[in-house]
Amino acid sequence: MAKFEIESNSTFDVLRSTFDVQRSSSDVHSIAIIGGGAAGYFAAITAAEANPAARITLYEQSKRTLQKVKISGGGRCNVTHSCFDPRDLAARYPRGTRELRAAFHRWQPQDTIDWFAERGVAIKTEPDGRMFPTTDDSQTIIDCFERAVRNAGVQVRKDCGVKHLSAKAPFTLHLSDDTQVEADKVLIAAGSLKASPLARALEAHGHTIAPLAPSLFAFNLADKRTHDLAGLSVQNARVTLVTAPSSDAKTATQTGPVLITHRGLSGPAILRLSAWQARALQAANYHFTIEINWLGDVSENQLREEFNRLRKGKTQVKTKVFEAVPRRLWERLVETAGIPDTMKWAQLPKDRESALVTELTAGRYAVQGKTTNKDEFVTAGGVSRKEINWRTMESSRIPNLFFAGECIDYDGITGGFNFQGAWTTGRIAGLAMAESGTAKSAD
Ligand SMILES: Cc1cc2nc3c(=O)[nH]c(=O)nc-3n(C[C@H](O)[C@H](O)[C@H](O)COP(=O)(O)OP(=O)(O)OC[C@H]3O[C@@H](n4cnc5c(N)ncnc54)[C@H](O)[C@@H]3O)c2cc1C
Repeated sequence: MAKFEIESNSTFDVLRSTFDVQRSSSDVHSIAIIGGGAAGYFAAITAAEANPAARITLYEQSKRTLQKVKISGGGRCNVTHSCFDPRDLAARYPRGTRELRAAFHRWQPQDTIDWFAERGVAIKTEPDGRMFPTTDDSQTIIDCFERAVRNAGVQVRKDCGVKHLSAKAPFTLHLSDDTQVEADKVLIAAGSLKASPLARALEAHGHTIAPLAPSLFAFNLADKRTHDLAGLSVQNARVTLVTAPSSDAKTATQTGPVLITHRGLSGPAILRLSAWQARALQAANYHFTIEINWLGDVSENQLREEFNRLRKGKTQVKTKVFEAVPRRLWERLVETAGIPDTMKWAQLPKDRESALVTELTAGRYAVQGKTTNKDEFVTAGGVSRKEINWRTMESSRIPNLFFAGECIDYDGITGGFNFQGAWTTGRIAGLAMAESGTAKSAD
């Protein structure tokens, strides 16, 4: 039986207004932040700077905080993305588009850039829109955060996990050292809720946890066409999910860089497909077929026209034709199409030409598993978006409980969008928690 159940809206309203009356008289309140990651730090700093009187403690279960920031972006930390229109930005989130669009009107990449600039951290933009500290070192971001929490007087307790929390404010937090603390307001910024005791507590207190699924992963495959070609990349390939039941036909095709790895395929187009189709691919147990057009948007007809032109020359088919396709991959595809090394374009039989067209524009590859251990990856699913007031990030079930970051059921594609989600939700929650009494809108 849950300790605190919302039986009806009216019960909820009574509880909430009682709480309002009790708290509104005091400006000094205690805030507990569960999770020393991107969202937790951003919220803690925001709340502490907005209300210096608040007593803020951040609890981190590991010995080190900000560990994902450290390893992010290959050690460079892809802080955000140069996309400044809330609508465009929100469209980069397979889950949470609608809610984040409104949130980005209040804190978006330009605000993030300005925030870091005010603290002496310059951010630069790469040609693909990803933004990094100019030092190309994630430690710059960590140092900035550590300085800011120190200056703002936030107490950081490392190696101190929160095992359980009570169902209403003032909250009792049960810590991993078997002590208990109380807090007027609590922010859950614990990252992925996979195997988290907090997920069970939240469910017991009436929250819904949307099913968790990995997102942003590479595809494993054992295919002779890519065997031994690790490191080669094609800048503008088109990848389509063909066999797993697609959760959304519009996003079942992704175009962009594809990287051949030791285990299979990675790169932005693959990671994006894994994000948009995270649930469908999980349902397929990561066994599915993709079709690749290595020439991006070049159609079969355009390709045949090009081949007709080549037939008039004297070159061999295995001589690389398209700048976009690396030589060794081209040779492998020619070989797969059953075309001998010495054959010239003029001698190419029609059935071999068709086989090569297929290999280039519609080659099918059987994916057998996924890899998440090197690339950026995130967990889709988490605390239901519907049970959060996105103007404050406060729970609509439990007054004075707030959420930020990956523990919420939203996630972005690769490119700095996931950190931007953490900054935005952390910022909104931080401002709302800083207010005295029961939190109101952070405007
Ligand atoms: C390898 C890798 C590279 C990435 N690179 C990028 C990138 O360049 N750009 C980008 O935008 N995104 C990147 N991401 C995604 C990004 O790291 C996450 O979206 C982001 O860290 C989410 O922030 P968060 O604060 O919600 O969660 P986290 O960063 O996961 O922080 C949660 C913290 O809470 C702590 N915690 C959990 N449970 C408890 C508990 N019960 N009590 C106390 N503490 C608890 C955890 O130990 C952790 O420190 C990357 C992810 C990975 C794995």
